[in-house]
Amino acid sequence: MTVLASGSKGNSTVISSSRTRVLVDAGLSCRELLRRMAMAGEAPEALDAILITHEHQDHIAGLAVLARRLKIPVFFTEPTHRAWVRMLTPRTTMTYAAWLDHVQREKEARAAAVAGEAAANLEAIASISAESAEVAEANRSDDPQAMMELPVDPDEIEDELCGPVQTAASVKADPAQLPAVEYFQAGTQFSIGDIDITPFTIPHDAADPCGFVFESEGIRMALATDLGYMPPNVKAALKRIDVLLLEANHDLEMLRDGPYPWSVKQRVLSRVGHLSNDATAEFLQKDYDGGATWIVLGHLSESNNAPELARMAAEQALVHHPALLGNRVVLAGQAAPLEPITL
Ligand SMILES: [Zn+2]
Ligand SMILES: [Zn+2]
Repeated sequence: MTVLASGSKGNSTVISSSRTRVLVDAGLSCRELLRRMAMAGEAPEALDAILITHEHQDHIAGLAVLARRLKIPVFFTEPTHRAWVRMLTPRTTMTYAAWLDHVQREKEARAAAVAGEAAANLEAIASISAESAEVAEANRSDDPQAMMELPVDPDEIEDELCGPVQTAASVKADPAQLPAVEYFQAGTQFSIGDIDITPFTIPHDAADPCGFVFESEGIRMALATDLGYMPPNVKAALKRIDVLLLEANHDLEMLRDGPYPWSVKQRVLSRVGHLSNDATAEFLQKDYDGGATWIVLGHLSESNNAPELARMAAEQALVHHPALLGNRVVLAGQAAPLEPITL
């Protein structure tokens, strides 16, 4: 496991066996991902596939450009892929006249539906409101800054930075174009090369977010970040793991007193937000089987956590698993890749 970046500004991790290499998430620009792979001694051309946990910006920012550049398939769940495509599909700005017209048509459709004239009109209303819900959903991100902006089209910026420039007309027409798309489903095991992958559902405010267990050559690694709490299915998935990348997002007090707007604090704290140091510690103390050689704490908030606090909470919880004390707990950061963890 090589963590290239972990945190609300970008997540990406390489999982490799001796034969297969998979990149989990591509939440930095293509250029930065390639730079970090070089720093960590990972060869980008050796990657076999990209695997996506969910469609938040900090997990997909460099995805399209990187996948096209490396010409490798991308594995999503179908709802995650659909949500991602929606985010990249350019939205046209409505003129005032068009908006008035749109409102008028909506009014008419409603009136018609009330009068029971046409069932088809009901569908029109449903699709209009579904569309606005989708827009709101697509605008969500783990970075509160990004949450308030419309998603940018990363290709506009990145094709220049992450050459060779791919401004083929087909890419312009379809920014979500990928060399190949493969679908997986939470709970159903699949394989990439000689790595067996079991995706599991995590509670998070995205279309269909997943964590993963990877197994190859008798070694099991798992990745579970971006979850509001530890439901039974996640606890069950994280058994007999040798290398565990686990979220320790925030310190509760720092978050409460911190700079985020109240609505964002609510979201982070919610059942579909992020795991606090305390929640992670509670899992480690009560439900964890103690079997991992390495525990990597990740997705630490830069505003609402301090690495020492995350480490302390985890290590105190692990007093019951003495084999894990000391240097076996490592912290993944936002700024630089971690040393590869090899078993
Ligand atoms: Zn997320
Ligand atoms: Zn995230």
